Amino acid sequence: MPKILIIEDEEAVRENILDLLEAENFETIAAANGRIGLHLAISEVPDLILCDMMMPQLDGYGVLTALRQDPSTVTIPFIFLTAKSAKSDFRQGMNLGADDYITKPFTRAELLSAIMNRLEKHATLKRYLSPKGLINNSSPKMQLLEISLHRAIKQHNFEEFEIYYQPIVDIASGKIVAAESLLRWQSLELGLIYPTEFIPLAESTGLIVPLGKWVLKNVCQQIKVWRDFGIYPLIIAVNLSVIEFNQPGFIEKVVNFIDINGLEPHYLELELTESMIMQDVNSAIATMSKLQSLGVKIAIDDFGTGYSSLIYLKNLPINTLKIDRYFIHNVATDLQKSAITKALIQMAHNLNLDVVAEGVETEAELEFLRQQNCNFMQGFLFSRPLPAAEFEKILLTNKCLYID
Ligand SMILES: [Mg+2]
Repeated sequence: MPKILIIEDEEAVRENILDLLEAENFETIAAANGRIGLHLAISEVPDLILCDMMMPQLDGYGVLTALRQDPSTVTIPFIFLTAKSAKSDFRQGMNLGADDYITKPFTRAELLSAIMNRLEKHATLKRYLSPKGLINNSSPKMQLLEISLHRAIKQHNFEEFEIYYQPIVDIASGKIVAAESLLRWQSLELGLIYPTEFIPLAESTGLIVPLGKWVLKNVCQQIKVWRDFGIYPLIIAVNLSVIEFNQPGFIEKVVNFIDINGLEPHYLELELTESMIMQDVNSAIATMSKLQSLGVKIAIDDFGTGYSSLIYLKNLPINTLKIDRYFIHNVATDLQKSAITKALIQMAHNLNLDVVAEGVETEAELEFLRQQNCNFMQGFLFSRPLPAAEFEKILLTNKCLYID
């Protein structure tokens, strides 16, 4: 289905349009201001954009002007939404290259007919203007993967996906205190597909939004199941995609899953990467602070591999630092890695953060981490990621990192 980006700062209007388009089976992405809208237009390349004209900071004219200067977005059909009906505004919008113009309040029929007209016209133009074969320049394999991913989400209702849990262990006591949830896709058509292959595709097609929502929903349900089962409280971490994190309504979504399962928010941890935060530091900090004030924990994932400066770290509302596996691999013998890891652990502790070492595979690595007072470890030395039932088993047997 065509993907439509809605850029609208008024929440009620935005939600209304989203409901309407989703009921028609359009794929939708939403932005609450012009800046995020522009970012999504470039990263998502939607099939059509609906954009409010009057918005604070970057308004609809500004968005359109920027889009028309970028070769990747110049031809995307663009429809202005506005409460104004003055003729001069209409002219200005059209002169900048808008394709149509709808005055609020509009009816469902008006909106849909404007969208369908534009999409049809655009498809016809594309057929005439594109040399054969250039319309879709991705490889047959990628196309197949995309079709399968779409089917797995929209038709097979996520049945091909499974959430695995990798234990996170307290280095001092040897006990499991948390787990990171990790998504696995066993495609009926293509077999096991690794997240490194399908996550970027899910991101570029916008499918990450329903997929991420499914993961979050399932993890929250699982936390409740384990709690009701009498298993001692565990923190479960969920990896987020930048697109989910920037979606309007993301916080409400998290709150909703916590509420319907009656969870204590501090048993849910959201893992963000440095690059996600650095894309727009201020707005990321605002979202993170809100989540943290609700009690949800925030971790920085794969730390050390991104480009963030350490200065930012002290301003970020986070609870946990996860040191990337790159630094942990051979940390006991590689002098540079051991120096960096030692400094990272110390710095994190000075900032009152917990530290998780990722990818711990050997006793020597573990011993080094213990000497440096690293809080937690995760890795094959203790356990690979496990299906929920298997993870439950090792919890019930009180599997410990150390043998007495
Ligand atoms: Mg992670």
